[in-house]
Amino acid sequence: MDAGYSFREDWTIVALIVQKYGGSSVADTDSIKRVAKRIIETKNAGNDVAVVVSAMGDTTDDLIDQAMSIDSTPPAREMDMLMTAGERISMSLLSMAIHSAGSHAYSFTGSQAGFMTDARFGAAHIRAVKPDRVRHALEKGSVAIVAGFQGINEDGDATTLGRGGSDTSAVALAVALGADVCEIYTDVDGVFTADPRIVPTARRIPVIDYESMLEMSSCGSKVLALRCVEYAQRFGMPLHVRSSFSHRNGTLILPEGISPASVPNLTRE
Ligand code: ASP
Ligand code: MG
Repeated sequence: MDAGYSFREDWTIVALIVQKYGGSSVADTDSIKRVAKRIIETKNAGNDVAVVVSAMGDTTDDLIDQAMSIDSTPPAREMDMLMTAGERISMSLLSMAIHSAGSHAYSFTGSQAGFMTDARFGAAHIRAVKPDRVRHALEKGSVAIVAGFQGINEDGDATTLGRGGSDTSAVALAVALGADVCEIYTDVDGVFTADPRIVPTARRIPVIDYESMLEMSSCGSKVLALRCVEYAQRFGMPLHVRSSFSHRNGTLILPEGISPASVPNLTRE
């Protein structure tokens, strides 16, 4: 019976990695090119790579400001239609950057990637993820790039998951694909004992369990959205929070009994 594994030439198992890049990692076109290189590196190391992106820099805030300057209480449906546009820009530019660097990628909206949600505009919950097209792209040897923070409701309307929702999109995609790890790329080297941009003596936490991470998220640590950690805990999905500006390992958030050494795509330190 086919166990669903594939093997590299040296008989090690090909890992399936979901990488999520936040707004600060794709703030301008130079950053997008840098991220494209990193994705290709991961792919060339023998992994399958599916990517979830946020909107570039402050795009989402700018879109909201534009809406507010027209109507301080815009229709919720139109607001979600507007906000989903941000991720559509970053996903297509990132896909182009991967092409221009000599590799291949397909970008998908939340709806194309099979993110089915309930009807709560602006705060939708994911009901199911059916990532057939993403899987197909990976089978063809391409990178799949998925717009974060969005899905589609039963009526076929675009929905958004609430601010910071791309982390949750990434974990949900990783779970639906059966990925080996979900890497969350940000602008700091992982989760710290305090904000390293403010407290210089803050220490990086190399490994942490879901419960402790949930406590930190609910205490206002902005590194990961609370819902994303809850989702990862529910399905035992290993998370690796790391910087897209360095190759250092970040913070691993792991289910009990999983050895950090078993997580793919770690940097040898
Ligand atoms: N772009 C959305 C936001 O700024 C989603 C995300 O970044 O996770 O909230
Ligand atoms: Mg954002």
